[in-house]
Amino acid sequence: MEDVVQLKKFHDIPEEELLSLLHSSRECGLSSDEALRRLRIFGPNELAEEEKIPWWKFFLRQFKSPMVYVLAIAAFISIIMGERLDAGAIIVVILINAAIGFFTEYRAEKALQALKSMVVHQVKVLRDGEVSLLPSQDLVPGDIVLLEAGDVVPADGRLIEGYSVAVDESALTGESVPVDKSVNTLSEDTPLPDRTNCLYAGTAVVRGSAKAIICATGLNTELGRISEMLQRVEKREIPLEARLAKFSRLLIKLVLAIVAVTVALGVFEGNKLLPMLQTGIALAVAAIPEGLPFVATMTLALGVHRMAKLNALVRNLASVETLGSTSVICTDKTGTITVNKMTVREHLVTNDRARDLIFKVALLCNNATLNNENQVGDPMEIALLKWASENGFDVTEIRKKFPRLKEDPFDSSVMRMVTYHDDFVAVKGAPERLLQDCKFVYEDGSLQPFSPAACDKWKEAVEKLASMGMRTLAFAIGKSLEELAFLGVVGIMDPPREEAREAVANCREAGIHVIMVTGDHVTTAIAIAKEVGILDDSDSRALDGQQISAMSEEDIAQRAREVAVIARVLPEHKYKIVKGLQKAGEVVAMTGDGVNDAVALKQADVGIAMGIQGTEVSKEAADIILEDDRFATIVNAIAEGRRIFDNIRKAVVYLLCCNLSEVLIVSGGILLQLPAILLPLQILWINLVTDVIPALALSLDPPEADTMKRPPKRKDEDILTKAHQLKIGIFGIVMFLGVLGATLYTLKFLGFSSLKATEIGFHSLVLAQLFFVFNVREASILRHPSSLWSNAYLLCGVLASIFLQVTITYIPIFQNVLRIVPLSLSEWSIILTSALIPTIILQLHKLTKGV
Ligand code: ADP
Ligand code: MG
Repeated sequence: MEDVVQLKKFHDIPEEELLSLLHSSRECGLSSDEALRRLRIFGPNELAEEEKIPWWKFFLRQFKSPMVYVLAIAAFISIIMGERLDAGAIIVVILINAAIGFFTEYRAEKALQALKSMVVHQVKVLRDGEVSLLPSQDLVPGDIVLLEAGDVVPADGRLIEGYSVAVDESALTGESVPVDKSVNTLSEDTPLPDRTNCLYAGTAVVRGSAKAIICATGLNTELGRISEMLQRVEKREIPLEARLAKFSRLLIKLVLAIVAVTVALGVFEGNKLLPMLQTGIALAVAAIPEGLPFVATMTLALGVHRMAKLNALVRNLASVETLGSTSVICTDKTGTITVNKMTVREHLVTNDRARDLIFKVALLCNNATLNNENQVGDPMEIALLKWASENGFDVTEIRKKFPRLKEDPFDSSVMRMVTYHDDFVAVKGAPERLLQDCKFVYEDGSLQPFSPAACDKWKEAVEKLASMGMRTLAFAIGKSLEELAFLGVVGIMDPPREEAREAVANCREAGIHVIMVTGDHVTTAIAIAKEVGILDDSDSRALDGQQISAMSEEDIAQRAREVAVIARVLPEHKYKIVKGLQKAGEVVAMTGDGVNDAVALKQADVGIAMGIQGTEVSKEAADIILEDDRFATIVNAIAEGRRIFDNIRKAVVYLLCCNLSEVLIVSGGILLQLPAILLPLQILWINLVTDVIPALALSLDPPEADTMKRPPKRKDEDILTKAHQLKIGIFGIVMFLGVLGATLYTLKFLGFSSLKATEIGFHSLVLAQLFFVFNVREASILRHPSSLWSNAYLLCGVLASIFLQVTITYIPIFQNVLRIVPLSLSEWSIILTSALIPTIILQLHKLTKGV
């Protein structure tokens, strides 16, 4: 079968011809062997991955930074001055720095790629005559796929069977009104938007169910052709990284200004130009925070990886930061707060005759299947099947006896499901809806008109079931939808998840308001909300969908923080709720699972889709996918988001404090006309050893004790607030004074040579910075000694750096380049003391503040 090809145009080929052209069969699909063979020929059904950047490009990219330019100039000046060794050392430093940058960026990129491939779309495919669930990558031309509302079309194809199919093609055509699809063959010149018999990859089925034959996959699809174009322009930009980059550019400008002034001043004081230039370069090197960009990248990448382990798959990196400032979570009830394991607990029927009918309707108006332990379908429908079989009804037999002609599927906007049979219709749905729909009721063995009084009695009964936290479902049967007779209701128990209560309590402490947004009955919603603590026991306030309809966005905004339960919600209400909350300045995380939830998910600051229950469409629209559907996972992801932001902040504070102390030492030294405490190469060494290693280790820091005990940060909060800037200023000065003290003390009081005294200054600074890294955390070590080893990477990094710092004094090449000699124990003790003093002061200060 050499002749199978990817088809570009297939709307004008008659169906049977198309099937034989692709050697497929309507009933059996392809054989697995043939599908495999085609997969080898055509390749996987996926759009070209973002161009993979080869490793050497990553490496070269490391040299495109202001610091490298400054260093290159430094090397050049050293050569002019005849200091070959220095020049060589600078070049080695450039290479090592590039290697560190390369390593972190490459790892981060790999982690992100791995994450992308974790989001797999499953498709129902007919192969060897059986329906199986396959990853959409495995599709080949000729495959027969089954699609229903909520699915994303996985590849281009032709509809061969369909019942009221409508597709949202806005992803492809920009047209947001869903297009009705049908099975006709069209004339050859039909333009693409009018090809109503074709389904295109990336579009979403919003109604009906379809059987289609795949005609083109991967890059041969219409979407593939556009995306090839898009890919060249699109570049992933993360706000946090962008802000950091902007911030570093600002710093660099500032630094260059300081350098210019210092050099000018030095020359003015009578120094020679070349050595002054060298000092200027030292200053620039000292001040530019070269570690900053890759610390942020690394922290984000590792964080996202960790979130994946917590079952929260991040699809949109920017949302990691937004998670950290989330102030309201709007969450589903069923399956998110509750376990979604349902059992029928109660049933209320009109009489014995109705009792039999109710089981019949429960079996027929039901899409689940139950074969021994193998249960497929909606948990509520499975519960109904179990309930019926436990009561002695044979599911298979009854289904065979009353075959189904047609179905109106359940949809939360109509709140009921209808199946049509030979001479009757079976209906199940929300009690309010069915009580409205029914004209008759079985009373005393015969069909009676449904009186308002009887209706009220039923409403009361439903209310009672709901107040016990049960999900209520009503049943009806009739000759047609116009002549329905009410049969009764069942109460279904779906217990809250064990950990939900704790997660809700955590949100409270963290200043996050939780709103339960559910399609379920108001009373049921309130009962469950009380069980998990979303509502206090004394509080029974709730809104319902109708009230939301009547409210304006401003009204919602006003009541943002008092509402905790919104019930009988339709998908369009969710969008309005999000908008209203956002008007109140809240950062909103919203969960969703249905096709119609996509709009609300997109509008929310963090759209969260359900991995298990969710439709493909909702997953496409979401920023985050919850693999386990659990509410607690949302809260864990928020905690992780906060931790990530905190750690980036800690790293920034640390790097800037270190740089500030170095700048003060260099320029302060010139102003005070002291011998240069820090040589350019020493600064390079410091930046390599003491800055980058601990800063990277900080990205793995555990959360602060108060991470989930303080209110969320504002959405536009700067990376460094005024308080942080002050902290950096003070810390930088304290470290500078410590080093200055050690140098002056040994120079003036102990009469050390200036070479020895400046060496003491150099070591003091390195150790001071290494100790100092423990100060960027909130808590004081004196009160929480265990925090010292809470991050093993940090502790090991610091210890290794100290070991290195002492060792190099014995290695000739370092001795030459860094102008150092081995020191005696008493000299080291001076260094240790002066390096410890700033940290001790800061720790005591923390202690007095009570942290
Ligand atoms: P949620 O998932 O937020 O609990 P839904 O919108 O799924 O709410 O359901 C709302 C109501 O619709 C339920 O309380 C129930 O009465 C009814 N219902 C839910 N699923 C079905 C279904 N498959 N068939 C008929 N009625 C249903
Ligand atoms: Mg539901």
